[in-house]
Amino acid sequence: MVLPLSFEFFPTKTPEGAVKLRAVRQQLYAMKPEFCSVTYGAGGSTHDGTFGAVREILTEGTDAACHFSCIGATRDTVRTQLAELKAMGVKRLVALRGDLPSGYGAGGEFLYASDLVRFIREETGREFHLEVACYPEVHPQARSPEADLQAFATKVRAGADSAITQYFFSPEAYFRFVDEARALKLDVPIVPGIMPITSSTQLMRFSDACGAEIPRWVRLRLQSFGDDVDSIKAFGLDVVSQLCERLVAGGAPALHFYTMNQAAATLGVLQRLGWHAQP
Ligand SMILES: Cc1cc2nc3c(=O)[nH]c(=O)nc-3n(C[C@H](O)[C@H](O)[C@H](O)COP(=O)(O)OP(=O)(O)OC[C@H]3O[C@@H](n4cnc5c(N)ncnc54)[C@H](O)[C@@H]3O)c2cc1C
Repeated sequence: MVLPLSFEFFPTKTPEGAVKLRAVRQQLYAMKPEFCSVTYGAGGSTHDGTFGAVREILTEGTDAACHFSCIGATRDTVRTQLAELKAMGVKRLVALRGDLPSGYGAGGEFLYASDLVRFIREETGREFHLEVACYPEVHPQARSPEADLQAFATKVRAGADSAITQYFFSPEAYFRFVDEARALKLDVPIVPGIMPITSSTQLMRFSDACGAEIPRWVRLRLQSFGDDVDSIKAFGLDVVSQLCERLVAGGAPALHFYTMNQAAATLGVLQRLGWHAQP
């Protein structure tokens, strides 16, 4: 059984990067994703790059989701950008709080992603399909797992249509989170976010920042490979493919890949699952 797929990219900083990313997208389009999404720098720092990439994806004939973070934003700036996205033909948003680099005061008129979801619904009704983030291993700033689950519930009740998880390597954390959400009568699809492993230093840096747990046995093996990139990739492919197999077997509704703007690692996992490019 092939599940719906989505692929996440970040906006590039140079024209050469944009050319490379176009080629990456073409490779991934062969898997017929339901949509591709583009991240948005908190505080609006990547506005042009994000909106430009979203526009390109739509022009290439694939549905695009624009990530939209509200930290530091005002109602007026959000209203203006929603109008811009609507005029571009965007139908899908990933509504987030975002993280400002340390040293920046948050400011702005939105405290949490739930405030953004509520505002978008008030302003634009059902114009956009709204995705939100959730955290099977608990958001690093949450007061407690229960408080984080309640924060997720607030986003769903404010009008989110579906959710994408932070990446994780323990399927048990995902299944438990889904069970807890269902117990609160939150019935939106909760799509696992999948991080292919291609570099151990990058993975450890990201995981420390976002609170994703790398199981000890995975961490130790990655460390033991040192600079041997081929071994890291081969082991990463095994780990992430087996994770996906368990998620699919356990009823995940779709898979969302954090592609890191590369096609090979994501395509490798999909091939292991026996999911091949479609004509
Ligand atoms: C799928 C996905 C995509 C992402 N894309 C981007 C991106 O494009 N750009 C970017 O900058 N970041 C992105 N992020 C990272 C995200 O912005 C950070 O994880 C951020 O710290 C939290 O965003 P959120 O939308 O989950 O926030 P929120 O849902 O607002 O939660 C933030 C924290 O506040 C707590 N909280 C929420 N509501 C309340 C309340 N009422 N009272 C007390 N506490 C509360 C939560 O428990 C949590 O600890 C993404 C994350 C994921 C999982």
